[in-house]
Amino acid sequence: MLLADIAGQEHAVAALLRAVASGRLAHACLFDGPESVGKRSAALGLALALCCTERPGQGCGTCDACRRIESGRHPDVLAFAPATTQYLVEQAREIVAMAATRPHEAPARVLILDSADCLNPSSANCLLKTLEEPFPGNHLVLVTSAPDRLLPTIRSRTQRVRFVALSAAALMRIAAARGASPAQAETAAVLAGGQVGRLLQALESEAESSLWTIVSNLRQAAAAKGMGAIFDAAAEFSDKESRQDLPEALALLARLYRDALVSAAGAGELALLRDRGSELATLAGQARKDYDLRTLRSALREVVQAGSALASNVNPVTALEKMLMDLRTLEAGLT
Ligand SMILES: [Zn+2]
Repeated sequence: MLLADIAGQEHAVAALLRAVASGRLAHACLFDGPESVGKRSAALGLALALCCTERPGQGCGTCDACRRIESGRHPDVLAFAPATTQYLVEQAREIVAMAATRPHEAPARVLILDSADCLNPSSANCLLKTLEEPFPGNHLVLVTSAPDRLLPTIRSRTQRVRFVALSAAALMRIAAARGASPAQAETAAVLAGGQVGRLLQALESEAESSLWTIVSNLRQAAAAKGMGAIFDAAAEFSDKESRQDLPEALALLARLYRDALVSAAGAGELALLRDRGSELATLAGQARKDYDLRTLRSALREVVQAGSALASNVNPVTALEKMLMDLRTLEAGLT
């Protein structure tokens, strides 16, 4: 993937393209940021920009060099991963030896170290001199989502390039580019939590409609006249299999209330679940007409708390009962 095609990392991409164009790219870069936000793709994109013969400085994605880089067959672009839970000293020595020579054929060589936080003190120390001054044309890219675990001596010898959790808008663009409908894209963007990997998982999963069915059932139970509906709805999730999708359904429910809250507060443009427009309008309208925003906020808090309770092994039925009783205030208009 070309650097320019990496979604949601405008700052990092612009800094890298500038550095390549000016010939001032650091010998050693540290790509850090959350899991699954494009760091590894950017490391390859950087290699394309440095080694492409057709569009030097940017990469074309179609020339022989670009194609070999993308398929992992270019002799000057190599990726390393820890051999065990850590990088072995032998691996570090191999990297040092390679970075001490001229690139085979491209104008640059790019050595990518995935999970660079798995460099132990011995392998890290072995790399120090190389990070400072590799043979001209060699670039090391250390990739990590846990930069604090790197030795300070490594951090100080690398140029930090920060990657961020992807915004909902960037996630939606990625989903749309893969042919997702707006409704699918919105749901997947909520479930992605800023990560491309989770977005793709959500798009591939066929659980979307069953998740919204859970959301709808929970809301109906909270809106029912008698309290019995609440106990029945919660009891549906008493066994392990039936509550498999519950955390994701609660994430959607929380986002629905959050979107209703911003809509009721007059910032509807911040809502993500636009496809759920009528539900949002109803909730937001209720909040405006009958209650204050505080009610909507407390509903949101209850859903988030129920989600955390599930994650920490609290009895899910109890957690749901508590949540539904609180939501009843909003959904059924009872106090
Ligand atoms: Zn190319």
